[in-house]
Amino acid sequence: MSACLKCGLPAAMRMEYTMQDLCGGCFTAQFERRVAKTNRDFSLLRRGDIVAVGVSGGKDSAAMLYCLDKMAKRIGGITLKPILIDEGIEGYRNVAALKAQELCSQLGYTLQTFSYKELFSASMDEVMARRDELAQEGKEGFTPRISCTYCGVFRKQALNKAALGVGANKLAVGHNADDTAQTFMMNLMRSEPARNGPMGSAGGEEEPQEGFARRVKPLVYNLEIECALFCKLKNLPFHLGGCPYAGESFRGYVKDFLNGAEKNYPGTKFNLLHSFLEIQKGLNGGKSQKSAIAASREIPMAQCTRCGEKHSGRSTGGLCKACEFLTELQFA
Ligand code: SF4
Ligand code: ZN
Repeated sequence: MSACLKCGLPAAMRMEYTMQDLCGGCFTAQFERRVAKTNRDFSLLRRGDIVAVGVSGGKDSAAMLYCLDKMAKRIGGITLKPILIDEGIEGYRNVAALKAQELCSQLGYTLQTFSYKELFSASMDEVMARRDELAQEGKEGFTPRISCTYCGVFRKQALNKAALGVGANKLAVGHNADDTAQTFMMNLMRSEPARNGPMGSAGGEEEPQEGFARRVKPLVYNLEIECALFCKLKNLPFHLGGCPYAGESFRGYVKDFLNGAEKNYPGTKFNLLHSFLEIQKGLNGGKSQKSAIAASREIPMAQCTRCGEKHSGRSTGGLCKACEFLTELQFA
């Protein structure tokens, strides 16, 4: 076995993209330093913040809650409120939620759960069953969409509602470097390069519009595989199973593609992440993200005529995207 590059102890893993061998202790310390760097680079947390931390029972959010807990104690004056969004996917989220519960108890937090069923009057299982029913009937004007298109819209709204519901001014989500590289690639492959501009790399909007919590992403400098390793080394509970609907997603395809590229060309994901950050600056016209966001705010937000949620105004009939989907699926 080779020796750890930093301390000389027996190495526990090899970081292929840097060709560094590290022991468990040096790896976890490096992981936490990257979270601290993300915090500095994007001004994520500060004293006085109430941060809703989105936990799912998975490895990314487990690593995030652990690191934020340490960081919050170090900085002081920060309150963390773990929240879980239950999509209503039997055999998946209900199992993962038990791990999230275990994690929160281990770290001394109370977990608050918000479900699609309560928020939108339909679980994801019901959404999928209704979609297939309507598609089979050949209902006129009905366009079936892939699972994650519905779920992504509902989750984004649910997370924001939950964050505001627990009185948070910030919402931390467990997006890692893989997720960012995938989103970047997906935007390019869909010919939507402008979406890489104001979407926010890790810090989101410094002063989000009224009705929105600022989304922060403390894990953007860490790979997904590193989150799993970190949880294992820190004995953090997490659920490994995948969503039964994930097979339909475009993200799943891009994820497999990038995993293959990373295997053959280590460093691909970080290269994409850095390209994204550079292109984002360019798309913002050399301006700071703050002024780019200010410019994007010249387009006024609309208020959903059904649920009152603020939205971009691009949906049809004055509805927010979630209500548009619920209406299509005849839940509203
Ligand atoms: Fe929702 Fe898609 Fe994720 Fe499943 S894979 S939880 S359907 S976004
Ligand atoms: Zn609505």
